[in-house]
Formats: sequence, structure tokens, C-alpha cells
Amino acid sequence: MDEKETEVLRKGGIKIGKNESVLEAIRNGLPHWIHETVDDDTYVIGKRYLRECTCSECGYKVSFERPVCPHCGVKMRKF
Ligand SMILES: [Zn+2]
Repeated sequence: MDEKETEVLRKGGIKIGKNESVLEAIRNGLPHWIHETVDDDTYVIGKRYLRECTCSECGYKVSFERPVCPHCGVKMRKF
């Protein structure tokens, strides 16, 4: 940590913005499973998430979430 960063932390506020942008980068950039939904009125939210999901990296479809994509081998992030 250099002097400038220490100064930012001391003042506060900016530190949060910094963390937020990192979080955003994680959400947008890291590989994850994309779940499809179907309309279902028996559910409160009006839809239900399917167990099947698609790799955000290669688009490979699996029947349930796995820690690693069996197609491109990318490690999945859980949020
Ligand atoms: Zn994949």
C-alpha cells in the first residue's frame, strides 16, 4: 500500500467505491452458471428457476450446477 492509498483509507468513503467497482467486476467478469426460468404461477415470484444451467463462458448446458464446467473447464464462482 503506498502513501496515496493510505490517505484514501484514512479519509474513508472512497474505499467503499473502490470495493464496489471490484465487486461489479467480479459479477460481470467471472464465469458463472446462467439459470433459465419458466413461468410458474404456483411460485411467489411467478417463475421458477430450472436446475439446468448454461456456462457463461462457452454456453455449454448442464443438467445441474457443477464447480467446474465440463466443457471448457472453467472454474465457477458462486454468489
Ligand atoms: Zn464452459
